Amino acid sequence: MSAAANAQGTTIEDLLASALALEEEASERYAELAEAMRSHNNREVAELFARMAAIEQLHVDEIRRQIVSRALTDLPAAGYRWVGLEGPETTDHSDLHYLMTPYQALSLALLNEQRARDHYLDIAAHSGDPEVEALAQELAAEEREHVVWVEQWLERFPRTDADWDQDADPANLQA
Ligand code: ZN
Repeated sequence: MSAAANAQGTTIEDLLASALALEEEASERYAELAEAMRSHNNREVAELFARMAAIEQLHVDEIRRQIVSRALTDLPAAGYRWVGLEGPETTDHSDLHYLMTPYQALSLALLNEQRARDHYLDIAAHSGDPEVEALAQELAAEEREHVVWVEQWLERFPRTDADWDQDADPANLQA
């Protein structure tokens, strides 16, 4: 979704609906990345992603609590998808396949954490509603923290060869 186009006038319903979709997407994608890193025998990064999946799930739970406590019904439909390494046009998760190295996986995570942060910052800057702005700032701060974590992890894993996605033996993927 493009919040940039219409952040102005964003209501609390809009914000919570997009936050729910965003955090659910993040939790699911991190679980996939954890699985990919496990198949890569990189337990360290797998554990990091599993932890991120759990953290994003806590956010999902918190957003749900806010929705219930505000007795909000009929939330607007909000889709939110992660982008691939090639940019926003790639949403088929081809980047999440099992040949991904820790560097690529962390780069993808960074890209999406930055995008999540910018999504909330954009709403905070343009909604015009103090309540929406406060909650959006709060959510942006959490994503900013995730950006920093992922950046720190990226420093530990050097960039790998550009041909990482050339699959030498596709059959192994099914193993
Ligand atoms: Zn996040």
